[in-house]
Amino acid sequence: MAGTAGDLVRLVATGHGRSRAELARLSGMAPSSVSLRVEELIDAGLLREDGEGASRGGRRPRHLRLHENAGVVVGADVGTHHVRMAVMDLAGRIVLKHELPGEIAEGPEQVTERLTRHIRSTLRQAGAEQLPLLGVGVGMPGPVDPATAKVVAPSRMPGWNDFPVGERLGELLGVRVLVENDANLMAVGEHRYGWPGRDNLMAVKAGTGIGCGIIASGKLHRGRGAAGDISHVPVHGPEPVTCSCGHSDCLEAHASGAALRRILRSKGIEVTSSRHLVELVNDGVPEVTTLVRNAGRLAGQVLTPLVNFFNPDVVVLGGGLSAAEPFIAAVRGAIYERCLPLATRDLEIATAVTGEDACMLGAGSVILDEVLTSAWVDETLSAR
Ligand SMILES: [Zn+2]
Repeated sequence: MAGTAGDLVRLVATGHGRSRAELARLSGMAPSSVSLRVEELIDAGLLREDGEGASRGGRRPRHLRLHENAGVVVGADVGTHHVRMAVMDLAGRIVLKHELPGEIAEGPEQVTERLTRHIRSTLRQAGAEQLPLLGVGVGMPGPVDPATAKVVAPSRMPGWNDFPVGERLGELLGVRVLVENDANLMAVGEHRYGWPGRDNLMAVKAGTGIGCGIIASGKLHRGRGAAGDISHVPVHGPEPVTCSCGHSDCLEAHASGAALRRILRSKGIEVTSSRHLVELVNDGVPEVTTLVRNAGRLAGQVLTPLVNFFNPDVVVLGGGLSAAEPFIAAVRGAIYERCLPLATRDLEIATAVTGEDACMLGAGSVILDEVLTSAWVDETLSAR
């Protein structure tokens, strides 16, 4: 390891380096250099000491932590009908979170302006308006080009195609903004907060739409931006349907929350959201339960070759539909029935450990990764 101040901050932030001795061992820096750097970081308000570590004879080492006042980031999950956001400290802990209604269909200008107001009011409520806001991570319910931070050809976001959402929010907020697809962020959030050490993971987000994010060897696998997209895989549904992409019989056109609501409306059952859909399942409405079970089976059939191909440690099921037991049971059933024994032997198929927070936590994590770089630490050291 290079052994810069940024490396030391990162080791403390991840909980690996809790004392000067651990930092010296992990960074490969000389103990005297570590002590000097740590003093600078404490003086600059980035680190603080707290409590006492285990004694090994002599002076007890004091625990190093990130200073709560060093700054905060915001992680935001912009859904089709809601926005969920959290103010997080530099160690990735939630200071305050809340959920607000919000329609993505209002269009990009209105949504980005509303998001800006919400972020400012959330910072005030968290008592963090005086702290440096170091960056904002945002999850969007559509494909995002990682190179340009633009939403590209989203199926349920009219007016958003090619809108520079990261750039616009950056202008409004005056900070660095990272934009990422919501299923990708759900994978990051679950990996960091739910399944640390399980470094090959697929996270399926089944809500209004259906998406999937991939963690491969511990890192988010973006490919060219569309990696993990399972929405437009053809399936054999009960009757032919044309998808919003123009092709027929995509998974999303048969098994997404939006598709299920459309089918139920044609049968005279009005459903307002994925949550409402799950309530009807829990109330035992037979038509709804059957539809949700079929949707789970179709999703499971799409996931089966992917599990054989990728051999993940964990398949996480999240999004609104994952609260419906028949959906989960059908996905599991399809995977266990058709996958190779070697692929399923130690496979975990589980609902999201972090529940509805997964994408928001992932958004906070990716911006923290971006912020806690050596360059930022060096800038802060010279500025404070
Ligand atoms: Zn399609």
